[in-house]
Amino acid sequence: MLDRDYEIAVLKGDGIGPEVIDEALKVLRALVSPKFSFREYPCGAKCFLETGNPLPSETIAGCRKADAVLLGAMGLPDVRWPDGTEMRPQIDLRIQLDLFAGVRPIYLYNRAHTPLKNVSVGDIDFVILRENVEGLFASMNGGIQLRGEVAVDSMVITRTGTERVVRFAFELAKKRNRPESRVTCVDKANVFKSMAFFRSIYDEVAKDFPQVQTDYAYVDALSMYLLQRPQFYDVLVTENMYGDIISDLAAGLIGGLGMAPSADIGLDAAVFQPSHGTAPDIANKGLANPIAMILSTAMMLRWLASQYDDQEMITAAEKVDKAVKNVMSDPKVSTKDLDGQLSTVELGDVVVGAL
Ligand code: NAD
Repeated sequence: MLDRDYEIAVLKGDGIGPEVIDEALKVLRALVSPKFSFREYPCGAKCFLETGNPLPSETIAGCRKADAVLLGAMGLPDVRWPDGTEMRPQIDLRIQLDLFAGVRPIYLYNRAHTPLKNVSVGDIDFVILRENVEGLFASMNGGIQLRGEVAVDSMVITRTGTERVVRFAFELAKKRNRPESRVTCVDKANVFKSMAFFRSIYDEVAKDFPQVQTDYAYVDALSMYLLQRPQFYDVLVTENMYGDIISDLAAGLIGGLGMAPSADIGLDAAVFQPSHGTAPDIANKGLANPIAMILSTAMMLRWLASQYDDQEMITAAEKVDKAVKNVMSDPKVSTKDLDGQLSTVELGDVVVGAL
């Protein structure tokens, strides 16, 4: 075991980003405070308005240097590039740090949170593995717009990119060790060459994991299956854009984006952020649910534990997970998105109390 302090780069961002990050930092300070130093860096749409750059080079350097990065959310719908697209430094950062694995756990903490009937706590428990740096997002800075008449973005699937994310998915299924370990390949291999290629690489990697079941779903059908039989799923792996869309659908099964954490993981760097955006409709009103951000922080603790063989970090992560489970067991103890009355800060306080 390594006894060391961790430097955490903090990118608060825009909208509700700073509000939810503050609650996550409160939780971390209550847990293992002397082990962390936090360093804040500018980033986001507001940063662009102030400096002309949504992702300054000092921010990228700070993220590279840090042991891990906590990110709130970035972007504002009114702040756009001349081509009509938004600032998206959170996506640029994934590419800069090559954070290829978007890990998005979906877990139901309370029956009252789901719009589905006949589903109990824990019945919905799966992880979406979103390929994070290629797919349809690879065209992000290179799509074509001709004469204001034609616009083209292309799907980019590489062997290396697919192999590493699919391998990550199978390793994760092995670690989760459910009675029926399963990795579902989500694609559109009936129509697109790129997706048939993705599936063929999935099949190659699957051969190395005979103890994990293979499963296939076209992304359109999966959107229905997730509503009809979410209990069936364990780990799902998919390209970037499909992962982006099904993450939001899946979040809807467990109470919304305020309940959906995520981690962007590379070989030697990782960023932890909720699956949600900056939610301008509720920003600065104390309405944001901080649970997704707090759970993302628990994911950071586990990742640090595995990187540095630090048992204290595992204990800390378990404490956060347990506190959230306890707090969420009472449906009245929640923010407005879950029909509760608490403010962002009040819910953060309750989690700290439960620690
Ligand atoms: P969004 O995730 O911000 O919001 C979608 C809906 O979910 C809204 O109704 C919002 O109020 C609700 N919501 C989201 N997080 C919540 C929380 N913690 N608690 C309670 N309710 C919550 O998505 P959007 O409205 O499509 O995008 C808003 C902005 O965020 C855009 O500028 C978009 O580009 C950006 N965005 C950023 C990220 C990121 O930083 N990772 C991700 C997605 C969107």
